[in-house]
Amino acid sequence: MRRLLSFILAGLILLTLSAGVCSSVPFTRTDSDGEVFSWVNNDKKMIALTFDDGPHPSYTEEILDVLRENGVRATFFVIGENAEKRTELIKEIADGGHEIGNHTFDHVTLRNKTEDEIEEEILGAEKSVLDAAGLRTRVLRPPEGKYSENVVKAAEKLGYSVVLWSVDTRDWAHRSAESITRAVLDNVTSGDIILCHDFISGESHTAEALSELIPELKRRGFAFVTVSELISQWDK
Ligand SMILES: [Zn+2]
Repeated sequence: MRRLLSFILAGLILLTLSAGVCSSVPFTRTDSDGEVFSWVNNDKKMIALTFDDGPHPSYTEEILDVLRENGVRATFFVIGENAEKRTELIKEIADGGHEIGNHTFDHVTLRNKTEDEIEEEILGAEKSVLDAAGLRTRVLRPPEGKYSENVVKAAEKLGYSVVLWSVDTRDWAHRSAESITRAVLDNVTSGDIILCHDFISGESHTAEALSELIPELKRRGFAFVTVSELISQWDK
């Protein structure tokens, strides 16, 4: 009886573990309906690296260094509040030829907000970037990827595309450089939008992972473009 119980228990543990593995597979190809992009249909091996939540006083700089060393451009979805505090970094991102996207003014979840509240959040972040670098943001990533019909409507009204992701590195969970690298290399295909973070509270291995994975992706023939460039390549 005891043996049977431990057998059942072992089975249950195994099931739980495999469910955990499945749910952590960082790959979804949904929601690309021309309004909300989690990936972009193209066969040109173009992909977009994206960084959320910054700028961060040290991690953004580290990431910019790796991108510069590899001659790669990316998209930074900045939070308005952070952009206001670190205008030099916003300028540096823009000067590096990267795209600056909008991640709301103070990183609130937009899903349950009214259209007016959503517009206010978007315009707040837009103003921070405009003041810092003279650029207008044109792509919106709703915090946590949570959006609603109101988000789509507000974005459309203000001339934004809503952008999610198709490969999630889960780097915010302080994963090792190796895990981040594997999450990308094992899943990436043409048209993917890769989610990373340049602002993480605590330890970050994102820059280290990028120095591994960017050369390997280049070797595989992938080209790195900004999110707006990727969207413009949509094969209808
Ligand atoms: Zn975020």
